Amino acid sequence: MISNFIFWQENWSNVPLGNDERVALQEEISVLHGKIATLEEEFNRSRQEASDYRHLSHQLEKELKELRDHDQQSKTKRIKVLSDLLISVSKAERQEARMKIRQESLRLGNIGVVRAGTIISEGWEDGQALKDLNAHLRSLLEMKESIERHRKSLKKRQSDKGDGNDMETGISDEDFHVQDEIFKSRLASIKREEETYLKEKDRYELEKGRLIREMKRIRDEDGSRFNNFPILNQRYALLNLLGKGGFSEVYKAFDLVENRYVACKLHSLNGQWSEEKKQSYIRHAIREYNIHKTLVHPHIVRLWDIFEIDHNTFCTVLEYCSGKDLDAVLKATPMLPEREARIIIVQIFHGLIYLNKRPQRIIHYDLKPGNVLFDEVGVAKVTDFGLSKIVEDDVGSQGMELTSQGAGTYWYLPPECFELSKTPLISSKVDVWSAGVILYQMLFGRRPFGHDQTQERILREDTIINARKVEFPSKPSVSIEAKELIRRCLTYNQTERPDVLTIAQDPYLSYSKR
Ligand code: AMP
Repeated sequence: MISNFIFWQENWSNVPLGNDERVALQEEISVLHGKIATLEEEFNRSRQEASDYRHLSHQLEKELKELRDHDQQSKTKRIKVLSDLLISVSKAERQEARMKIRQESLRLGNIGVVRAGTIISEGWEDGQALKDLNAHLRSLLEMKESIERHRKSLKKRQSDKGDGNDMETGISDEDFHVQDEIFKSRLASIKREEETYLKEKDRYELEKGRLIREMKRIRDEDGSRFNNFPILNQRYALLNLLGKGGFSEVYKAFDLVENRYVACKLHSLNGQWSEEKKQSYIRHAIREYNIHKTLVHPHIVRLWDIFEIDHNTFCTVLEYCSGKDLDAVLKATPMLPEREARIIIVQIFHGLIYLNKRPQRIIHYDLKPGNVLFDEVGVAKVTDFGLSKIVEDDVGSQGMELTSQGAGTYWYLPPECFELSKTPLISSKVDVWSAGVILYQMLFGRRPFGHDQTQERILREDTIINARKVEFPSKPSVSIEAKELIRRCLTYNQTERPDVLTIAQDPYLSYSKR
Protein backbone atom coordinates (compact mmCIF):
# COMPACT_ATOMS: atom_id res chain seq x y z
CA MET A 1 0.00 0.00 0.00
CA ILE A 2 2.82 2.39 0.94
CA SER A 3 4.74 1.71 -2.28
CA ASN A 4 1.56 2.41 -4.30
CA PHE A 5 1.28 5.76 -2.64
CA ILE A 6 4.95 6.70 -3.33
CA PHE A 7 4.44 5.79 -6.98
CA TRP A 8 1.40 7.96 -7.09
CA GLN A 9 3.24 10.79 -5.25
CA GLU A 10 6.21 10.71 -7.70
CA ASN A 11 3.92 11.04 -10.69
CA TRP A 12 1.24 13.44 -9.52
CA SER A 13 3.26 16.56 -10.84
CA ASN A 14 2.61 15.38 -14.42
CA VAL A 15 -1.10 15.78 -13.89
CA PRO A 16 -2.41 19.18 -15.15
CA LEU A 17 -3.97 20.98 -12.12
CA GLY A 18 -5.05 24.51 -11.08
CA ASN A 19 -3.11 26.44 -8.34
CA ASP A 20 -5.70 26.02 -5.58
CA GLU A 21 -6.09 22.41 -6.36
CA ARG A 22 -2.33 21.94 -6.24
CA VAL A 23 -2.06 23.65 -2.83
CA ALA A 24 -4.96 21.58 -1.42
CA LEU A 25 -3.45 18.42 -2.79
CA GLN A 26 -0.04 19.25 -1.27
CA GLU A 27 -1.65 19.80 2.13
CA GLU A 28 -3.46 16.54 1.85
CA ILE A 29 -0.22 14.86 0.86
CA SER A 30 1.62 16.24 3.84
CA VAL A 31 -1.25 15.12 6.13
CA LEU A 32 -1.01 11.71 4.58
CA HIS A 33 2.79 11.76 5.07
CA GLY A 34 2.18 12.42 8.74
CA LYS A 35 -0.32 9.60 8.93
CA ILE A 36 2.11 7.25 7.18
CA ALA A 37 4.87 8.16 9.60
CA THR A 38 2.55 7.55 12.56
CA LEU A 39 1.37 4.27 11.06
CA GLU A 40 4.92 3.18 10.42
CA GLU A 41 5.83 4.08 13.97
CA GLU A 42 2.85 2.14 15.30
CA PHE A 43 3.67 -0.72 12.98
CA ASN A 44 7.23 -0.85 14.26
CA ARG A 45 6.05 -0.61 17.82
CA SER A 46 3.54 -3.42 17.28
CA ARG A 47 6.23 -5.49 15.61
CA GLN A 48 8.46 -4.91 18.58
CA GLU A 49 5.64 -5.68 20.94
CA ALA A 50 4.76 -8.84 19.01
CA SER A 51 8.35 -9.93 19.18
CA ASP A 52 8.43 -9.12 22.91
CA TYR A 53 5.25 -11.12 23.41
CA ARG A 54 6.64 -14.00 21.43
CA HIS A 55 9.74 -13.93 23.53
CA LEU A 56 7.71 -13.69 26.70
CA SER A 57 5.48 -16.52 25.64
CA HIS A 58 8.54 -18.69 24.87
CA GLN A 59 9.86 -17.79 28.23
CA LEU A 60 6.55 -18.62 29.92
CA GLU A 61 6.25 -21.88 28.03
CA LYS A 62 9.72 -22.81 29.16
CA GLU A 63 8.92 -21.90 32.75
CA LEU A 64 5.63 -23.79 32.57
CA LYS A 65 7.41 -26.86 31.27
CA GLU A 66 9.96 -26.56 34.05
CA LEU A 67 7.12 -26.21 36.53
CA ARG A 68 5.32 -29.19 35.02
CA ASP A 69 8.47 -31.25 35.14
CA HIS A 70 9.00 -30.14 38.69
CA ASP A 71 5.35 -30.90 39.54
CA GLN A 72 5.67 -34.31 37.89
CA GLN A 73 8.91 -34.89 39.75
CA SER A 74 7.37 -33.88 43.06
CA LYS A 75 4.29 -35.96 42.27
CA THR A 76 6.48 -38.95 41.42
CA LYS A 77 8.47 -38.24 44.55
CA ARG A 78 5.30 -37.95 46.63
CA ILE A 79 4.01 -41.25 45.23
CA LYS A 80 7.36 -42.91 45.92
CA VAL A 81 7.47 -41.64 49.51
CA LEU A 82 3.84 -42.61 50.09
CA SER A 83 4.15 -46.09 48.61
CA ASP A 84 7.42 -46.70 50.52
CA LEU A 85 5.63 -45.72 53.69
CA LEU A 86 2.63 -47.95 52.94
CA ILE A 87 4.94 -50.84 52.10
CA SER A 88 6.90 -50.52 55.36
CA VAL A 89 3.65 -50.45 57.36
CA SER A 90 2.37 -53.50 55.47
CA LYS A 91 5.67 -55.34 55.97
CA ALA A 92 5.46 -54.65 59.69
CA GLU A 93 1.86 -55.91 59.67
CA ARG A 94 2.92 -59.07 57.84
CA GLN A 95 5.68 -59.70 60.36
CA GLU A 96 3.33 -59.11 63.26
CA ALA A 97 0.71 -61.45 61.77
CA ARG A 98 3.30 -64.21 61.40
CA MET A 99 4.63 -63.69 64.90
CA LYS A 100 1.13 -63.82 66.32
CA ILE A 101 0.47 -67.05 64.44
CA ARG A 102 3.60 -68.62 65.93
CA GLN A 103 2.57 -67.60 69.45
CA GLU A 104 -1.03 -68.71 68.99
CA SER A 105 0.14 -72.02 67.49
CA LEU A 106 2.00 -72.89 70.68
CA ARG A 107 -1.19 -72.32 72.64
CA LEU A 108 -3.84 -73.61 70.22
CA GLY A 109 -2.09 -75.97 67.81
CA ASN A 110 -0.57 -76.36 64.41
CA ILE A 111 -0.78 -78.33 61.21
CA GLY A 112 1.57 -81.25 61.58
CA VAL A 113 2.37 -84.62 60.10
CA VAL A 114 -0.03 -87.26 61.32
CA ARG A 115 0.79 -90.94 60.99
CA ALA A 116 -1.98 -93.51 60.89
CA GLY A 117 -0.34 -96.91 60.41
CA THR A 118 1.70 -96.58 57.26
CA ILE A 119 -0.22 -93.57 55.98
CA ILE A 120 1.31 -90.17 56.63
CA SER A 121 -0.85 -87.12 56.12
CA GLU A 122 -1.24 -83.52 57.23
CA GLY A 123 -3.47 -82.99 60.23
CA TRP A 124 -4.18 -80.75 63.17
CA GLU A 125 -2.16 -81.14 66.34
CA ASP A 126 -3.57 -79.43 69.42
CA GLY A 127 -1.41 -76.86 71.22
CA GLN A 128 -0.52 -76.78 74.93
CA ALA A 129 -3.61 -74.87 76.09
CA LEU A 130 -5.96 -77.32 74.39
CA LYS A 131 -3.91 -80.29 75.60
CA ASP A 132 -4.05 -78.95 79.18
CA LEU A 133 -7.76 -78.34 78.90
CA ASN A 134 -8.39 -81.84 77.59
CA ALA A 135 -6.18 -83.27 80.35
CA HIS A 136 -8.23 -81.37 82.95
CA LEU A 137 -11.45 -82.67 81.46
CA ARG A 138 -10.07 -86.21 81.42
CA SER A 139 -8.97 -86.00 85.06
CA LEU A 140 -12.37 -84.60 86.06
CA LEU A 141 -14.02 -87.49 84.26
CA GLU A 142 -11.79 -89.98 86.08
CA MET A 143 -12.58 -88.30 89.38
CA LYS A 144 -16.27 -88.44 88.63
CA GLU A 145 -16.10 -92.11 87.74
CA SER A 146 -14.14 -92.91 90.90
CA ILE A 147 -16.63 -91.06 93.12
CA GLU A 148 -19.51 -92.80 91.39
CA ARG A 149 -17.80 -96.16 92.03
CA HIS A 150 -17.36 -95.26 95.71
CA ARG A 151 -20.96 -94.14 95.93
CA LYS A 152 -22.14 -97.36 94.41
CA SER A 153 -20.15 -99.40 96.89
CA LEU A 154 -21.45 -97.23 99.75
CA LYS A 155 -24.99 -97.91 98.63
CA LYS A 156 -24.23 -101.60 98.37
CA ARG A 157 -22.85 -101.65 101.93
CA GLN A 158 -25.95 -99.88 103.12
CA SER A 159 -28.31 -102.28 101.35
CA ASP A 160 -26.25 -105.31 102.54
CA LYS A 161 -26.63 -104.05 106.07
CA GLY A 162 -30.38 -103.75 105.51
CA ASP A 163 -30.44 -107.38 104.29
CA GLY A 164 -28.43 -108.37 107.35
CA ASN A 165 -25.73 -109.85 105.06
CA ASP A 166 -22.72 -107.96 106.26
CA MET A 167 -22.94 -106.68 109.76
CA GLU A 168 -19.17 -106.15 110.19
CA THR A 169 -18.69 -103.62 107.43
CA GLY A 170 -22.08 -102.03 107.90
CA ILE A 171 -22.29 -98.32 108.69
CA SER A 172 -24.80 -96.34 110.63
CA ASP A 173 -27.60 -94.55 108.75
CA GLU A 174 -26.18 -91.23 109.82
CA ASP A 175 -22.72 -92.12 108.43
CA PHE A 176 -24.27 -93.36 105.23
CA HIS A 177 -26.21 -90.11 104.64
CA VAL A 178 -23.23 -87.93 105.51
CA GLN A 179 -20.94 -89.93 103.23
CA ASP A 180 -23.50 -89.90 100.41
CA GLU A 181 -23.98 -86.16 100.81
CA ILE A 182 -20.20 -85.70 100.56
CA PHE A 183 -20.16 -87.69 97.31
CA LYS A 184 -23.14 -85.77 95.86
CA SER A 185 -21.65 -82.44 96.73
CA ARG A 186 -18.28 -83.43 95.21
CA LEU A 187 -20.02 -84.61 92.03
CA ALA A 188 -21.88 -81.27 91.77
CA SER A 189 -18.66 -79.36 92.18
CA ILE A 190 -16.96 -81.50 89.50
CA LYS A 191 -19.91 -80.82 87.18
CA ARG A 192 -19.51 -77.07 87.72
CA GLU A 193 -15.80 -77.27 87.03
CA GLU A 194 -16.47 -79.37 83.95
CA GLU A 195 -18.95 -76.80 82.64
CA THR A 196 -16.40 -74.03 83.08
CA TYR A 197 -13.79 -76.06 81.18
CA LEU A 198 -16.29 -76.93 78.43
CA LYS A 199 -17.14 -73.25 77.98
CA GLU A 200 -13.44 -72.49 77.79
CA LYS A 201 -13.05 -75.30 75.26
CA ASP A 202 -15.79 -73.77 73.09
CA ARG A 203 -13.93 -70.47 73.21
CA TYR A 204 -10.69 -72.23 72.28
CA GLU A 205 -12.43 -73.95 69.38
CA LEU A 206 -13.57 -70.55 68.03
CA GLU A 207 -10.04 -69.18 68.45
CA LYS A 208 -8.68 -72.30 66.77
CA GLY A 209 -11.03 -71.69 63.81
CA ARG A 210 -9.79 -68.10 63.54
CA LEU A 211 -6.18 -69.29 63.76
CA ILE A 212 -6.70 -71.86 61.00
CA ARG A 213 -8.28 -69.20 58.73
CA GLU A 214 -5.41 -66.79 59.43
CA MET A 215 -2.87 -69.57 58.71
CA LYS A 216 -4.61 -70.22 55.41
CA ARG A 217 -4.58 -66.49 54.58
CA ILE A 218 -0.84 -66.29 55.29
CA ARG A 219 -0.17 -69.42 53.26
CA ASP A 220 -2.20 -67.94 50.38
CA GLU A 221 -0.35 -64.62 50.71
CA ASP A 222 3.03 -66.39 50.63
CA GLY A 223 1.97 -68.32 47.53
CA SER A 224 0.50 -65.34 45.68
CA ARG A 225 2.29 -63.87 42.68
CA PHE A 226 1.11 -60.39 43.75
CA ASN A 227 2.66 -60.49 47.23
CA ASN A 228 5.61 -58.26 46.38
CA PHE A 229 3.84 -54.90 46.72
CA PRO A 230 3.34 -54.11 43.01
CA ILE A 231 1.71 -50.86 41.83
CA LEU A 232 -1.07 -51.83 39.42
CA ASN A 233 -2.27 -49.64 36.57
CA GLN A 234 0.16 -46.94 37.81
CA ARG A 235 -2.13 -46.09 40.70
CA TYR A 236 -3.05 -49.01 42.99
CA ALA A 237 -0.34 -49.96 45.51
CA LEU A 238 -1.10 -53.56 46.55
CA LEU A 239 -0.52 -54.17 50.26
CA ASN A 240 -1.61 -57.28 52.18
CA LEU A 241 -3.85 -60.17 51.13
CA LEU A 242 -7.33 -60.00 52.67
CA GLY A 243 -8.48 -63.39 51.43
CA LYS A 244 -8.70 -65.83 48.57
CA GLY A 245 -11.80 -67.17 46.86
CA GLY A 246 -12.27 -69.69 44.06
CA PHE A 247 -10.65 -67.77 41.18
CA SER A 248 -9.78 -64.55 42.91
CA GLU A 249 -7.55 -62.97 45.50
CA VAL A 250 -8.57 -59.81 47.36
CA TYR A 251 -5.79 -57.42 48.40
CA LYS A 252 -5.97 -54.33 50.54
CA ALA A 253 -4.54 -51.58 48.34
CA PHE A 254 -4.01 -47.82 48.26
CA ASP A 255 -5.28 -45.70 45.39
CA LEU A 256 -2.43 -43.21 44.83
CA VAL A 257 -4.61 -40.94 42.69
CA GLU A 258 -7.66 -40.66 44.92
CA ASN A 259 -5.60 -41.09 48.10
CA ARG A 260 -7.79 -43.74 49.69
CA TYR A 261 -7.67 -47.40 50.63
CA VAL A 262 -9.43 -49.76 48.22
CA ALA A 263 -9.86 -53.52 47.87
CA CYS A 264 -8.37 -54.93 44.67
CA LYS A 265 -9.97 -58.20 43.58
CA LEU A 266 -7.61 -60.00 41.22
CA HIS A 267 -9.42 -62.47 39.00
CA SER A 268 -7.13 -65.10 37.53
CA LEU A 269 -8.30 -67.24 34.69
CA ASN A 270 -6.96 -70.74 34.79
CA GLY A 271 -4.24 -71.12 32.15
CA GLN A 272 -5.53 -74.64 31.45
CA TRP A 273 -9.00 -73.37 30.54
CA SER A 274 -10.12 -73.44 26.95
CA GLU A 275 -10.33 -70.07 25.19
CA GLU A 276 -14.11 -70.49 25.19
CA LYS A 277 -14.25 -70.93 28.97
CA LYS A 278 -11.96 -67.93 29.51
CA GLN A 279 -14.17 -65.78 27.28
CA SER A 280 -17.25 -66.93 29.16
CA TYR A 281 -15.63 -66.04 32.52
CA ILE A 282 -14.63 -62.59 31.22
CA ARG A 283 -18.13 -62.00 29.79
CA HIS A 284 -19.54 -62.93 33.17
CA ALA A 285 -17.16 -60.58 35.01
CA ILE A 286 -17.91 -57.71 32.63
CA ARG A 287 -21.62 -58.31 33.14
CA GLU A 288 -21.09 -58.20 36.92
CA TYR A 289 -19.02 -55.03 36.55
CA ASN A 290 -21.65 -53.37 34.38
CA ILE A 291 -24.32 -54.08 36.96
CA HIS A 292 -22.22 -53.22 39.96
CA LYS A 293 -20.64 -49.97 38.70
CA THR A 294 -24.04 -48.27 38.44
CA LEU A 295 -24.92 -48.98 42.06
CA VAL A 296 -24.38 -46.01 44.36
CA HIS A 297 -25.84 -46.54 47.82
CA PRO A 298 -24.53 -46.39 51.41
CA HIS A 299 -25.36 -50.09 51.94
CA ILE A 300 -23.86 -51.41 48.70
CA VAL A 301 -20.08 -51.75 48.31
CA ARG A 302 -18.97 -49.34 45.54
CA LEU A 303 -17.12 -50.64 42.53
CA TRP A 304 -14.62 -47.99 41.42
CA ASP A 305 -12.66 -49.43 38.54
CA ILE A 306 -11.79 -52.46 36.40
CA PHE A 307 -8.66 -53.07 34.32
CA GLU A 308 -6.67 -55.83 32.69
CA ILE A 309 -3.38 -56.93 34.22
CA ASP A 310 -2.36 -59.50 31.64
CA HIS A 311 -3.99 -61.90 29.23
CA ASN A 312 -5.21 -64.15 32.05
CA THR A 313 -5.75 -61.68 34.87
CA PHE A 314 -7.91 -58.65 35.49
CA CYS A 315 -8.67 -56.55 38.52
CA THR A 316 -11.80 -54.96 39.97
CA VAL A 317 -11.32 -52.13 42.44
CA LEU A 318 -13.86 -51.98 45.27
CA GLU A 319 -14.61 -49.70 48.18
CA TYR A 320 -12.49 -50.94 51.09
CA CYS A 321 -14.43 -52.21 54.09
CA SER A 322 -12.03 -52.46 57.00
CA GLY A 323 -14.37 -54.33 59.36
CA LYS A 324 -14.89 -58.10 59.29
CA ASP A 325 -17.51 -59.63 57.03
CA LEU A 326 -20.67 -60.96 58.72
CA ASP A 327 -19.52 -64.55 58.23
CA ALA A 328 -16.36 -63.84 60.26
CA VAL A 329 -18.43 -62.00 62.88
CA LEU A 330 -20.75 -65.01 63.25
CA LYS A 331 -17.82 -67.42 63.41
CA ALA A 332 -16.40 -65.44 66.34
CA THR A 333 -19.81 -64.84 67.99
CA PRO A 334 -22.38 -67.21 66.51
CA MET A 335 -25.32 -65.46 68.25
CA LEU A 336 -25.79 -61.71 68.22
CA PRO A 337 -27.92 -59.69 70.63
CA GLU A 338 -31.27 -58.93 68.92
CA ARG A 339 -30.58 -55.21 68.85
CA GLU A 340 -27.40 -55.75 66.81
CA ALA A 341 -29.01 -58.32 64.52
CA ARG A 342 -31.91 -55.97 63.84
CA ILE A 343 -29.80 -53.00 62.74
CA ILE A 344 -27.78 -55.28 60.45
CA ILE A 345 -30.87 -56.74 58.74
CA VAL A 346 -32.38 -53.24 58.42
CA GLN A 347 -29.27 -52.09 56.52
CA ILE A 348 -29.33 -55.17 54.28
CA PHE A 349 -32.97 -54.40 53.47
CA HIS A 350 -32.13 -50.75 52.73
CA GLY A 351 -29.64 -52.03 50.14
CA LEU A 352 -32.26 -54.42 48.73
CA ILE A 353 -34.93 -51.70 48.54
CA TYR A 354 -32.49 -49.58 46.52
CA LEU A 355 -31.89 -52.52 44.15
CA ASN A 356 -35.65 -52.79 43.63
CA LYS A 357 -36.46 -49.12 43.19
CA ARG A 358 -34.05 -48.46 40.31
CA PRO A 359 -35.35 -48.41 36.74
CA GLN A 360 -33.37 -51.64 36.22
CA ARG A 361 -34.30 -53.88 39.15
CA ILE A 362 -31.69 -56.31 40.41
CA ILE A 363 -31.93 -59.65 42.21
CA HIS A 364 -28.72 -60.21 44.18
CA TYR A 365 -29.24 -64.00 44.32
CA ASP A 366 -26.23 -64.69 46.56
CA LEU A 367 -27.04 -62.94 49.82
CA LYS A 368 -25.20 -64.64 52.66
CA PRO A 369 -23.13 -63.52 55.66
CA GLY A 370 -19.88 -63.66 53.63
CA ASN A 371 -21.32 -61.08 51.24
CA VAL A 372 -22.13 -58.53 53.93
CA LEU A 373 -19.11 -56.38 54.80
CA PHE A 374 -18.64 -53.72 57.48
CA ASP A 375 -16.76 -50.46 57.04
CA GLU A 376 -14.61 -48.83 59.73
CA VAL A 377 -17.61 -47.38 61.58
CA GLY A 378 -19.69 -50.56 61.40
CA VAL A 379 -21.95 -49.70 58.44
CA ALA A 380 -23.07 -52.92 56.73
CA LYS A 381 -22.69 -53.13 52.94
CA VAL A 382 -23.82 -55.79 50.50
CA THR A 383 -21.22 -56.99 48.00
CA ASP A 384 -20.51 -59.58 45.27
CA PHE A 385 -22.89 -59.24 42.36
CA GLY A 386 -21.36 -62.25 40.61
CA LEU A 387 -24.66 -64.14 40.44
CA SER A 388 -27.04 -61.18 40.31
CA LYS A 389 -29.77 -60.89 37.71
CA ILE A 390 -31.26 -57.87 36.01
CA VAL A 391 -35.06 -58.06 35.99
CA GLU A 392 -36.17 -57.26 32.45
CA ASP A 393 -39.16 -54.94 32.06
CA ASP A 394 -41.33 -57.55 30.41
CA VAL A 395 -41.21 -60.25 33.12
CA GLY A 396 -44.55 -61.35 34.50
CA SER A 397 -45.57 -61.05 38.14
CA GLN A 398 -44.22 -64.56 38.83
CA GLY A 399 -40.68 -63.50 38.01
CA MET A 400 -37.99 -64.28 35.47
CA GLU A 401 -36.45 -67.58 34.40
CA LEU A 402 -33.52 -68.77 36.49
CA THR A 403 -30.69 -69.44 34.05
CA SER A 404 -27.95 -70.31 36.54
CA GLN A 405 -29.59 -73.09 38.51
CA GLY A 406 -27.13 -74.90 40.81
CA ALA A 407 -25.11 -71.76 41.61
CA GLY A 408 -25.34 -69.97 44.95
CA THR A 409 -25.09 -71.12 48.55
CA TYR A 410 -27.85 -73.59 49.34
CA TRP A 411 -28.44 -72.72 53.02
CA TYR A 412 -29.62 -69.28 51.89
CA LEU A 413 -31.63 -70.13 48.75
CA PRO A 414 -35.42 -70.59 48.70
CA PRO A 415 -37.23 -73.79 47.60
CA GLU A 416 -38.09 -72.46 44.11
CA CYS A 417 -34.37 -72.44 43.20
CA PHE A 418 -34.26 -76.22 43.66
CA GLU A 419 -37.17 -76.89 41.28
CA LEU A 420 -36.02 -79.58 38.88
CA SER A 421 -39.13 -80.39 36.86
CA LYS A 422 -39.18 -77.01 35.08
CA THR A 423 -37.04 -73.87 34.79
CA PRO A 424 -37.81 -71.93 37.98
CA LEU A 425 -39.19 -68.41 37.84
CA ILE A 426 -37.47 -66.15 40.30
CA SER A 427 -37.92 -62.60 41.64
CA SER A 428 -36.70 -60.37 44.48
CA LYS A 429 -38.43 -62.90 46.75
CA VAL A 430 -35.23 -64.97 46.52
CA ASP A 431 -33.38 -62.18 48.36
CA VAL A 432 -36.23 -61.89 50.88
CA TRP A 433 -35.80 -65.59 51.76
CA SER A 434 -32.00 -65.22 52.07
CA ALA A 435 -32.41 -62.18 54.34
CA GLY A 436 -34.77 -64.22 56.54
CA VAL A 437 -32.17 -67.00 56.84
CA ILE A 438 -29.47 -64.44 57.73
CA LEU A 439 -31.66 -62.84 60.44
CA TYR A 440 -32.49 -66.27 61.90
CA GLN A 441 -28.81 -67.23 61.93
CA MET A 442 -27.77 -63.98 63.64
CA LEU A 443 -30.39 -64.48 66.37
CA PHE A 444 -30.18 -68.22 66.99
CA GLY A 445 -26.57 -69.01 66.08
CA ARG A 446 -27.53 -71.56 63.43
CA ARG A 447 -29.19 -71.62 60.03
CA PRO A 448 -32.87 -72.63 60.00
CA PHE A 449 -32.50 -75.37 57.38
CA GLY A 450 -29.61 -77.82 56.84
CA HIS A 451 -27.33 -76.09 59.35
CA ASP A 452 -25.07 -79.09 59.91
CA GLN A 453 -25.34 -80.39 56.36
CA THR A 454 -22.90 -80.00 53.50
CA GLN A 455 -24.01 -78.36 50.24
CA GLU A 456 -23.99 -81.76 48.59
CA ARG A 457 -26.17 -83.32 51.30
CA ILE A 458 -28.69 -80.44 51.15
CA LEU A 459 -29.14 -81.19 47.48
CA ARG A 460 -29.20 -84.97 47.87
CA GLU A 461 -31.69 -84.91 50.75
CA ASP A 462 -33.91 -82.16 49.31
CA THR A 463 -33.45 -80.27 52.58
CA ILE A 464 -34.72 -76.95 51.26
CA ILE A 465 -37.50 -78.48 49.18
CA ASN A 466 -38.74 -79.90 52.50
CA ALA A 467 -38.28 -76.63 54.41
CA ARG A 468 -42.02 -76.03 54.75
CA LYS A 469 -42.08 -74.50 58.20
CA VAL A 470 -39.53 -72.64 60.25
CA GLU A 471 -39.11 -73.72 63.90
CA PHE A 472 -37.70 -71.43 66.57
CA PRO A 473 -35.61 -72.72 69.49
CA SER A 474 -36.89 -71.69 72.94
CA LYS A 475 -33.58 -69.98 73.70
CA PRO A 476 -32.46 -67.28 73.35
CA SER A 477 -35.57 -65.25 73.86
CA VAL A 478 -36.33 -63.26 70.73
CA SER A 479 -39.13 -60.73 70.13
CA ILE A 480 -42.40 -61.82 68.53
CA GLU A 481 -41.87 -59.13 65.87
CA ALA A 482 -38.51 -60.58 64.80
CA LYS A 483 -39.98 -64.09 64.58
CA GLU A 484 -42.92 -62.78 62.59
CA LEU A 485 -40.59 -61.08 60.11
CA ILE A 486 -38.54 -64.29 59.77
CA ARG A 487 -41.74 -66.31 59.22
CA ARG A 488 -42.82 -63.90 56.47
CA CYS A 489 -39.39 -64.02 54.78
CA LEU A 490 -39.35 -67.82 54.97
CA THR A 491 -42.81 -68.30 53.48
CA TYR A 492 -42.45 -71.57 51.62
CA ASN A 493 -44.76 -70.78 48.75
CA GLN A 494 -43.18 -68.22 46.47
CA THR A 495 -46.51 -66.68 45.41
CA GLU A 496 -47.44 -66.03 49.05
CA ARG A 497 -44.00 -64.71 50.07
CA PRO A 498 -43.78 -60.89 50.09
CA ASP A 499 -41.34 -59.28 47.66
CA VAL A 500 -38.67 -56.79 48.80
CA LEU A 501 -40.81 -53.65 48.48
CA THR A 502 -43.73 -55.28 50.33
CA ILE A 503 -41.69 -56.66 53.22
CA ALA A 504 -39.91 -53.30 53.46
CA GLN A 505 -43.14 -52.05 55.11
CA ASP A 506 -42.75 -54.52 58.00
CA PRO A 507 -42.70 -52.52 61.29
CA TYR A 508 -39.61 -54.43 62.48
CA LEU A 509 -37.62 -52.83 59.65
CA SER A 510 -38.52 -49.29 60.60
CA TYR A 511 -37.20 -47.29 63.55
CA SER A 512 -39.49 -44.29 63.17
CA LYS A 513 -42.88 -46.08 63.04
CA ARG A 514 -42.97 -47.18 66.68
P1 AMP B 1 -14.24 -63.06 48.51
O1 AMP B 1 -13.34 -63.76 47.55
O2 AMP B 1 -15.13 -62.05 47.89
O3 AMP B 1 -14.95 -64.00 49.42
O4 AMP B 1 -13.27 -62.21 49.47
C1 AMP B 1 -12.13 -62.75 50.11
C2 AMP B 1 -11.83 -61.97 51.37
O5 AMP B 1 -11.66 -60.60 51.07
C3 AMP B 1 -12.95 -62.05 52.43
O6 AMP B 1 -12.36 -62.17 53.70
C4 AMP B 1 -13.63 -60.73 52.33
O7 AMP B 1 -14.14 -60.34 53.58
C5 AMP B 1 -12.51 -59.80 51.87
N1 AMP B 1 -13.07 -58.71 51.06
C6 AMP B 1 -13.77 -58.83 49.89
N2 AMP B 1 -14.15 -57.63 49.43
C7 AMP B 1 -13.69 -56.72 50.32
C8 AMP B 1 -13.78 -55.29 50.43
N3 AMP B 1 -14.44 -54.57 49.51
N4 AMP B 1 -13.20 -54.69 51.49
C9 AMP B 1 -12.55 -55.42 52.43
N5 AMP B 1 -12.45 -56.76 52.41
C10 AMP B 1 -12.99 -57.42 51.36
